[in-house]
Amino acid sequence: MKKSGKMRIIVGNWKMNKAPAEAAALFSEIASGLTSDCCRVILCVPFVDLLTVANLAADTEICIGAQNCHFDNEGAYTGEISPAMLNNIGVNHVILGHSERRKYFGETDETTNKKVKLAIASGLTPIVCVGETLLERELGVTDEKISIQIKKLLNGVLTPQLENLIIAYEPVWAVGSGRCIEHADLVHVCKVIRASLSSLYGVEAANNVPILYGGSINSQNFTDLLSIDDIDGGLVGGASLVAEEFLKIVNCT
Ligand code: PEP
Repeated sequence: MKKSGKMRIIVGNWKMNKAPAEAAALFSEIASGLTSDCCRVILCVPFVDLLTVANLAADTEICIGAQNCHFDNEGAYTGEISPAMLNNIGVNHVILGHSERRKYFGETDETTNKKVKLAIASGLTPIVCVGETLLERELGVTDEKISIQIKKLLNGVLTPQLENLIIAYEPVWAVGSGRCIEHADLVHVCKVIRASLSSLYGVEAANNVPILYGGSINSQNFTDLLSIDDIDGGLVGGASLVAEEFLKIVNCT
């Protein structure tokens, strides 16, 4: 638990890894090793694993999330999965706007914004990703990039709906690269995120939105980042695929 009394949140993003039997085994290893009860654990698994893992999670405190969803709840969208379908099988979170979806599948702030609104309306909590590229950081435009993304991604999201929303700050250059952000840089970007949220929704609502950091988190670097007041937890990719390492991250909260 944080000083503010807010629950910490650790999200595991398994990306495109683990077929259902492997997913069940990893889930069970994680579930049986959890010792921290002051942290919400959300496992975001591939679509084919959702039913298996959601069933296993039903008797635990672990929440299950998808890694994407569509911006409509039904229709002629071959190959897509809707927020309503996810909700129907016991999924309660969804990662939206991840940099890998933007890079490989052409997702934009506009399409992600539609998904964010429908996900909330369909009973899911979106984990909304923002983050600058390396070029943007080097050019010194990180702050502008983040505040514009927040405005575009949350366009049309109402103040009460912020209760069902998590922001994940994931610098694109840090995701999967082994390069983690510096403490002082993260402190600064968190302030930019809170200020952007405050300008849209007011200080109180803005302060209640959980902000996670994601980008090459491991059990060595995470404790320091977690000590930052504005950081409510982490979005963990690669390190969430190894139960022992993921548990070290969760259990240090
Ligand atoms: C991610 O997938 O969101 C992520 C942060 O990956 P990694 O931890 O591997 O950098």
